[in-house]
Amino acid sequence: MTPQELLAADAAHVWHPYATLPPAVPPYLVEAAEGVRLRLADGRELVDGMSSWWAAIHGYRHPVLDAAVTDQLGRMSHVMFGGLTHAPAVELARTLVELAPDGLEHVFLADSGSVSVEVAIKMCLQYQRATGRPQRRRLGTWRGGYHGDTFHPMSICDPEGGMHHLWGDVLPRQVFAPVPPGGFDTPPDPAYEAALVDAVQRHADELAAVIVEPVVQGAGGMRFHHPHYLRVLREVTRAHGVLLIFDEIATGFGRTGTMFAAEHAGVVPDVMCVGKALTGGYLTLAAALCTPEVAAGIRTGGVLAHGPTFMGNPLACAVANASLGLLRAGDWAGQVARLQRHLRAGLEPLRGLPGVADVRVLGGIGVVQLDHEVDMAAATAAAVGQGVWLRPFRDLIYTMPPYVTDDADLARIAAAIGAAARVA
Ligand code: PLP
Repeated sequence: MTPQELLAADAAHVWHPYATLPPAVPPYLVEAAEGVRLRLADGRELVDGMSSWWAAIHGYRHPVLDAAVTDQLGRMSHVMFGGLTHAPAVELARTLVELAPDGLEHVFLADSGSVSVEVAIKMCLQYQRATGRPQRRRLGTWRGGYHGDTFHPMSICDPEGGMHHLWGDVLPRQVFAPVPPGGFDTPPDPAYEAALVDAVQRHADELAAVIVEPVVQGAGGMRFHHPHYLRVLREVTRAHGVLLIFDEIATGFGRTGTMFAAEHAGVVPDVMCVGKALTGGYLTLAAALCTPEVAAGIRTGGVLAHGPTFMGNPLACAVANASLGLLRAGDWAGQVARLQRHLRAGLEPLRGLPGVADVRVLGGIGVVQLDHEVDMAAATAAAVGQGVWLRPFRDLIYTMPPYVTDDADLARIAAAIGAAARVA
């Protein structure tokens, strides 16, 4: 098909994320991706400021990752995981346990971030049932979060301002505390801390778990908070037999400057979800890790009742092993610190622009928040005009580039964010 035919067929038949059909703004047709660049069908090359939504941390067509997929293809692309096991999955589980905060020892391989959140929640509900507290079925969280698009994850996204407010009347009713105030460096607010503790204590008898995105709330608003609040949650949940889930799907594998964002707080959750960068963005794979206590509790009631068809897909596991191997062998911490320096230098001056309400940078994440909703089409086109791919939404123009983005391309990204902010 010609590019024009492809775009016409796309408009006729293909759903895109959070879009009408046909979409209000037609997508750009991408033909190839290599290094940190996407090549459009019309020949334009764009520096990818999004890492394909937090995932492509090593860039595209990395020779080691390409080879991992082709090598694995030569052995087996997929086999069922019921009754069978294989080296790519076992090796991946062992690596995840080595990398994860101490105490998380068991790994459920899921096929997307949302499903890993479903599994994490199911683990907690089953644990509570099996250990004699079946009435503990609700979830606690703070507002402003985003945990995915399937039904339980939707119920813990902000029911008022969040992406799933449409479903308020259908979803299970969860327990919400306010959005954590301030930013990563803002001293903790004792009044907020007390409110958080109170919310968990008041509802403890009905809460199976508290689930939050540690340190960075991603798609719910790109907000940062002080790690202290995670310590507060750890203490109060432990004191009341409520499990604690950290959703590290966006923050995991170095993005905030530590391997997992939980490390900023020095706390270990009972269950942790990872995804996105797990395969370096090559294939869809996520995981829910849990402690031996959670696994033992579930075991007293029987099996963990989950087992998708593509569980532990060998191609995805093989490329995840290669991606984590690259991460461990390289200086990811140095790369992310460099990203932070350059994003700060490039974005801080944008505070002076009309309409800019806030600029914040943490690790490899840079955010410019406006005092109004962005004109998504105009802001995206302005960035594309500067040779950069961005996906502004709501009042946010933001970037989380591949860790391998060089200094010149980081400067281009910052300039493109400035251009987008000027027209948004
Ligand atoms: N949790 C967090 C923190 C996320 O950022 C996302 C995706 O953006 C998800 C869960 C859902 O992951 P997926 O889109 O792979 O289902």
